[in-house]
Amino acid sequence: METQALVCVDCSRTYELVEHSRCPHCGGPLSVEMGELRVPQDLFRDYDALTRHGMWAYQPLLPVRLPEPSTLGEGNTPLIRVPRLASELGLPVELWVKDETRQPTGAFKDRPLSVAINKAVEFGKKVVVTSSSGNAAGATAVFAARAGLDAVVVVPAKTPAPKLAMARAAGARILKVNGDVSDCVRFVVAGAERYGWYDVTTTFANPYSVEGNKTIAYEMALQMDFQVPDWIVVPVGAGPLLVGIYKGFKDLQRLGLIQRLPRMVAAQAEGCAPIAEAFRAGKERVLAWEGVNTVAGAIADPLTGYEQDGTYTLNIVRESGGVALAVDDGAIREAAGQMSRLEGIYVEVSTGSALAAVAKMWGDGIIEAGQSCVLIATGHGLKHPHGDTGEPEAVVDPDPASLDAWVEAQGLAREG
Ligand SMILES: *Cc1c(COP(=O)(O)O)cnc(C)c1O
Ligand SMILES: [Zn+2]
Repeated sequence: METQALVCVDCSRTYELVEHSRCPHCGGPLSVEMGELRVPQDLFRDYDALTRHGMWAYQPLLPVRLPEPSTLGEGNTPLIRVPRLASELGLPVELWVKDETRQPTGAFKDRPLSVAINKAVEFGKKVVVTSSSGNAAGATAVFAARAGLDAVVVVPAKTPAPKLAMARAAGARILKVNGDVSDCVRFVVAGAERYGWYDVTTTFANPYSVEGNKTIAYEMALQMDFQVPDWIVVPVGAGPLLVGIYKGFKDLQRLGLIQRLPRMVAAQAEGCAPIAEAFRAGKERVLAWEGVNTVAGAIADPLTGYEQDGTYTLNIVRESGGVALAVDDGAIREAAGQMSRLEGIYVEVSTGSALAAVAKMWGDGIIEAGQSCVLIATGHGLKHPHGDTGEPEAVVDPDPASLDAWVEAQGLAREG
């Protein structure tokens, strides 16, 4: 008996697990809802299964029925305690990083795309299409290559080169648009309609992909021995990452494995903050953002034409007792740099928004001393580098005298 269904978040109509991207009745986002949760006993304590299968260890809770989903071993990322970061920033909280930079394509997008691409295979599709600010393009290209499908990725023209290099290498066709991510979405919808391509865009346009993000919660439960953190801080564009993680914790609660849920924080950039702005203003609905202007390209989604996706995320933030807030580009860059300098975790610029949000929440008295806080490190620094903007290093001749001169110039002291 099939126990899963697609349920419209806005009008509550229910559908089978079909190819729908949005609710055919009202256009609202669809959510995969599980009936009875049936999982092997001890699934959530099974390190061995997680090591061998990555996130697919949790297939009973994912909407894919293929007996052998194609995979590159995605999931199973480390949860890292970062006490130096907390103390240097003057944050008396227990700070952790869930390090999604350690995925096959260097971003958390591998979780949603792995599910969506396998769903495409299940539906018998040959071509998948996505709109993306770069990371989803890479993951779509890579997982499509792995599964033997063709990929079309539609990206803003100013997408960082390393993100496109990865997609290109995997053989994806790249369509560069003179516009933002919402402009790309319109191309994808047209491509899906006119050519029958399967839309795997990781907004809520693909309800299955969202489910992949639940596995972050499952892994965290095991890694934290079923202690639920007080706060989970997520860099947010449209919000499926945040919503998926929260859904995962709800599954754990339904299974009786945890007693409470974490409070979810949506971190956005001031130059594109439709969800944070609606939260600040106490609005019920999220409005599209005019005039995107931020360095944090991976979370710069103005939501034009799918504003209800932002409202869905806003509602989940509120339901969890969480917060949505915006931080400026200076704080985002600074925070990304601090993660590298103080802990050696090299994240892409956009990811800095999570740490900047924690600092702001502490300053505003939202977080209390002693609380636990997990940052989601969403993307790898090499995919949108920072740290290459200072003075270039001097080049020296390979003779021994150069060493002394260089050491002196660096101001390095002799040890012992
Ligand atoms: C996609 C992305 C996000 C935002 O995720 P959403 O689920 O779209 O809100 C955050 N950080 C990075 C690096 C991303 O690639
Ligand atoms: Zn509906």
